[in-house]
Amino acid sequence: MLEKVLIANRGEIALRVLRACKELGIKTVAVHSTADRELMHLALADESVCIGPASGALSYLQIPAIIAAAEVTGATAIHPGYGFLAENADFAEQVENSGFAFIGPKAETIRLMGDKVSAKDAMKRAGVPVVPGSDGPLPEDEETALAIAREVGYPVIIKAAGGGGGRGMRVVYKEEDLIKSAKLTRSEAGSVFGNPMVYLEKFLGNPRHVEVQVLSDGQGNAIHLGDRDCSLQRRHQKVLEEAPAPYIDERARAEVLQRCVNACIEIGYRGAGTFEFLYEDGGFYFIEMNTRVQVEHPVSEMVTGIDIVKEMLSIAAGNKLSFTQDDVVIRGHSLECRINAEDPDNFMPCPGKVKHFHAPGGNGVRVDSHLYSGYTVPPHYDSLIGKVITHGATREEAMARMRNALDEIVVDGIKTNVPLHRMLVRDKGFCEGGVNIHYLEKKLGMDKH
Ligand code: ADP
Repeated sequence: MLEKVLIANRGEIALRVLRACKELGIKTVAVHSTADRELMHLALADESVCIGPASGALSYLQIPAIIAAAEVTGATAIHPGYGFLAENADFAEQVENSGFAFIGPKAETIRLMGDKVSAKDAMKRAGVPVVPGSDGPLPEDEETALAIAREVGYPVIIKAAGGGGGRGMRVVYKEEDLIKSAKLTRSEAGSVFGNPMVYLEKFLGNPRHVEVQVLSDGQGNAIHLGDRDCSLQRRHQKVLEEAPAPYIDERARAEVLQRCVNACIEIGYRGAGTFEFLYEDGGFYFIEMNTRVQVEHPVSEMVTGIDIVKEMLSIAAGNKLSFTQDDVVIRGHSLECRINAEDPDNFMPCPGKVKHFHAPGGNGVRVDSHLYSGYTVPPHYDSLIGKVITHGATREEAMARMRNALDEIVVDGIKTNVPLHRMLVRDKGFCEGGVNIHYLEKKLGMDKH
């Protein structure tokens, strides 16, 4: 096993990784900015190192500072969590070149998947179904571009190859708007992502977001942990997730799960990963792959009983997967509500001091959060302050437990989106299951489609 892991992240995911390390008897190094001295996991880690000022760009995104911290503390591996440097191929490369194990895929895999055009191409070749569209980048030549869009059929969506975080996309409904929209997206992509390449896809009208969790040891063994539905989104940001995805055609599900596993073996994938799909009319269409642990990984852990982070650590230590596909049995249903420090009315971030925090409990309730009474949520980072996760024998039981948990949770002193979640777990459409990616925005009165 790994000896000492440096956790290159903050907040709930840093605590999540720390817990897994401690369970396995691995020593831990926490790194933090000057604004994060109060983080809970610093008190629990064997060592902690301040790596810079409050701004993420000057601390959690500083590759030399993180590698130096690993060197001075004698860490042997680095876990990037999610966000920050988790999908930065240069970081993974420098970590490995400096002699540490990177707890994630090889740099070349991150690079391949980080460019959505090359990712889609690789997946298509590996037999994963993709959204129909331009094979490769959308050519600048106007006639060719128009011909491609006509062939795909309107509406289409133009997306930046280097895009992420729900940005760098434009839907085109009519042929006369195509060239103008392509130019606009290209120039935005160039300035925001430093890569002007765009590609074109069929714009699916009412898809659901369904994703597949995989684990692969990079030694020829890969398995899936089933799927998750993350269709409840606002501005392409996930709000509430569940596993398994309800009302999916079972044949299509079995097929896509197997294709993801095959693709992992084909590309020599190492670590935990997620294949993201749009699901419409019984078909799956790949949109991107995330080469890291995801915020919503706990729902898959709850239904499989497998600890994804512990498995990531084991794979990084060079071990083979500790179980086979036959050992993976999906039991019951799990839901996750992302709790954000934000105003429930206008979604503006609401950092500040938490006067009192009370975590819900009971059978089938899990809370992954770094909050404690007296903790001050700093204004410099993402507003996620925790996740309430429930598990039940059925979706109804998981939902009833989530209603209780959300009634019990107390976060005094700052505003949170708990009221939004309380509304959602009582919403008729969501409770029936299988809503599409526009459902939440429609409900909030902000849908543009
Ligand atoms: P990002 O990396 O920025 O999150 P994705 O490619 O994962 O970008 O797409 C984010 C979201 O945009 C999807 O979850 C979906 O809501 C919407 N989207 C992306 N591609 C399409 C498409 N072809 N048709 C309809 N909606 C899409």
